Amino acid sequence: MIHTEPSAQPSTMDTAAFLKHIESAFRRIFSDGIDLMRYLPEDKWLALKQAGLLLPFLDKKHGGRKGSQFEIQEVLRIAGHYGVPVTLRTGIEGALVLQPLQEFGDEAQVAQGLDMVFKGEGGGLGVTEPETSGAAIAREMQSYYEYTDEQTIYVNAAKYWQGNSQSDFLLVAAKERKNGKLAKVINLLLVPKQYIRYEALTSEGLRAVRYAVNRIDAEMPAAAVMKLSQSDAAGLRAFQNIFIRSRLQLVGMTHGIMEYILENLDRYVRNDIKFVDYERREIQRRHQVSEILYRYVCHSVSPVAPVAHQLMEANIVKTLATEYTYAAAQMLQKLLGAKGFERGHTASNIAIDIRPFTIFEGPNDMLYAEIYDQFVRATAEEKEAGIKLDKNQTLLDRLQTDARFAAVARDYTLPEDIRSFLQEHTLTDACALQKVFIGKIIARLFVFVQAEHEDTAAFLLNDIRKDILDCRYCG
Ligand SMILES: Cc1cc2nc3c(=O)[nH]c(=O)nc-3n(C[C@H](O)[C@H](O)[C@H](O)COP(=O)(O)OP(=O)(O)OC[C@H]3O[C@@H](n4cnc5c(N)ncnc54)[C@H](O)[C@@H]3O)c2cc1C
Repeated sequence: MIHTEPSAQPSTMDTAAFLKHIESAFRRIFSDGIDLMRYLPEDKWLALKQAGLLLPFLDKKHGGRKGSQFEIQEVLRIAGHYGVPVTLRTGIEGALVLQPLQEFGDEAQVAQGLDMVFKGEGGGLGVTEPETSGAAIAREMQSYYEYTDEQTIYVNAAKYWQGNSQSDFLLVAAKERKNGKLAKVINLLLVPKQYIRYEALTSEGLRAVRYAVNRIDAEMPAAAVMKLSQSDAAGLRAFQNIFIRSRLQLVGMTHGIMEYILENLDRYVRNDIKFVDYERREIQRRHQVSEILYRYVCHSVSPVAPVAHQLMEANIVKTLATEYTYAAAQMLQKLLGAKGFERGHTASNIAIDIRPFTIFEGPNDMLYAEIYDQFVRATAEEKEAGIKLDKNQTLLDRLQTDARFAAVARDYTLPEDIRSFLQEHTLTDACALQKVFIGKIIARLFVFVQAEHEDTAAFLLNDIRKDILDCRYCG
């Protein structure tokens, strides 16, 4: 049963009342503490879901809330105050399960999935495979299904590192096999746990989330197939869109963790050594960047609107949010000295648990290189307006005409050394290695133009100068 005041239902409360209700549910459910060195107790997780934690991810027609991006970001942020695994589980079931399930599932599949999420142990998303590169997954994926008759499919899949492994089901990404050949397009299969054999993984961190190698080698009803689209090209785009949306939303998790880091900084670090003070400010500056990314997503994304055109932005949000939160976590751990090395200490948990955020949903190095590629190509809007990019223009020319960098928060002039670096390169002359570093520079410039405070801007310029040094060094 959903636990609420008799007159108020979380699905109909106004935003402020709903978020207060979620905060108080967390306080109540974790009133006796939380041990992040063990799996999160399923009864507590279910109680949170039944209190309405995932309602912002749920369509109104399925009993959810009104489709507000702010509410999605807020529930992730609030969960972050209870540790990395708690907000990660919220993100997994919200962005990787509920949203794709509702977008691509038919009525029966949605009903089956929602039942397992809201009455059982829920599910996870199975994309990565042990034998293929997660970074090149769309091309290399080997998991497949094959129709044996109209009602039945044979599924052969090996998936690994699925968050929420061993719960009630996985949405499994697989290609259709016909006449011995794998299609290019990827679909999802709703696979209940009775078809899955798992070998639990012992992870370095994130002990509160279940991970496993999941193997499926079984016949099952063909009703499990969720076609992402009827055409091949649109199917791959739809698959990619799942990750564009979840990369954008991910800043809700990291921003909550950033706030949790600041809380713990206040609690544990009371030293008045000058350098410690400097490091404290450096953590705060990373938090300010996180705030800009958080605000960007709340204002520029909607759960009910397409996100296909925001691939570069999604990659920027994901890389910077995770890079800066990971760095802040490491600094907090260091500032605690030996305490930060104690097994199970909050600071140690955050530093270990946040690290894979730089790996999953696309490893950051790959995403930085992609940011470069997306920056030097015409956007969908430009293509529609018939604009063709002059490939001989410099990165600075592009920056000054690219509408994605026009949301300027204050008057600024780029310092001469940075302008001159951007003028050294045309849109085509970066090698594969340089793309990673230039991608980082572009990502930071995206935030730099939105920074309201000089302090944040100066911090970003400092990092850009380090990237420039790296880029010149590697080139
Ligand atoms: C804690 C955790 C949770 C996870 N949760 C899930 C989940 O719920 N569901 C799921 O399906 N998967 C999950 N994964 C798997 C994750 O998505 C993959 O590990 C990730 O996509 C990277 O794939 P890979 O490990 O094969 O690394 P690889 O693709 O082998 O990449 C390894 C490294 O090579 C470099 N690299 C790769 N490509 C490029 C490039 N183009 N340019 C520059 N550098 C590059 C990067 O440094 C990268 O980190 C999880 C992983 C972890 C650790």
